[in-house]
Amino acid sequence: MRLFEAIIDANHRAVAGDATAGLHPADFADELPVIALTCIDPRLNAYFPNALALPAEEFIWLRNAGNIIITPLSSTMRSLALACAVKGGREIAIIGHTDCQICKTTTTVLLDKLKELGVERHLLPDNINEYFGMFSSERQNVIKACDIVRHSPLIGPKIPVHGLLLDIETGKLDWLVNGYQTLETAGSQLREPAGPIGQAMQALGNFNIGEMKFPETKIGEFATKAGDWLTKEAGQLEAGAAETMRNVAPVAESVQEAAGQVAGFAKKHWPRPSVSAQAPIEPPKIPIPPPIRPKIIQPRDKR
Ligand SMILES: [Zn+2]
Repeated sequence: MRLFEAIIDANHRAVAGDATAGLHPADFADELPVIALTCIDPRLNAYFPNALALPAEEFIWLRNAGNIIITPLSSTMRSLALACAVKGGREIAIIGHTDCQICKTTTTVLLDKLKELGVERHLLPDNINEYFGMFSSERQNVIKACDIVRHSPLIGPKIPVHGLLLDIETGKLDWLVNGYQTLETAGSQLREPAGPIGQAMQALGNFNIGEMKFPETKIGEFATKAGDWLTKEAGQLEAGAAETMRNVAPVAESVQEAAGQVAGFAKKHWPRPSVSAQAPIEPPKIPIPPPIRPKIIQPRDKR
């Protein structure tokens, strides 16, 4: 049984009331962590990652309004790609939910609500539907997003892309797109995306990934360089300070004395940090007893 087969099995059994339903994350070490894209709806906060029977540390959670993916190179796609490449995500799941308010909002209603917030229509893009990625079916929205991710040049052929729909009332997961199956058939299509994906790629005009000139600078390199510069500067300052101390040797003792007094004052009057500044701050370790069981919130009338 593969990871998402076990997840769906555990979820369905838990929803049916099986208190022993769950999975052992250690059995799926090669398929974890999972990257999930869900909606921003706060009602989902209680469901994830519990509804998947996964521990939090194996769950990379991306959210946007309506779990929408518009183009193969969008901002959300960049995050998915980095979650795979940098954070080691092994499988992607686009998880929509029932009763999604983004789905229920029409363009007219959206424009009215934006107007109430002082947003001027003439400052918005012409095609509001396309820009916000508005949709009228939660299922179709998930299937479309999976299709775009599967064919995005940013996601390699080794990553399964699943589509699920969570019932907001029961927590039950509906497996709309089986990423293991689409993975087998997607290989030949990866290079030449067709349909809306191909059109979206063509719409990018001259943008050609193969010919793109990528800058040499790595992500985070600016920070490293800044760190190097600081270290160098600090070294120079230290050397300068030592030189100064040699020159002012006669007064060094009084300087030390003054420093001691300042330190004493600080100790006495400044609030102490609760954790030693030297010790790395670690989050509390919450042991998770295997197996992880999906926690399902039952609808109120069934309690
Ligand atoms: Zn939603």
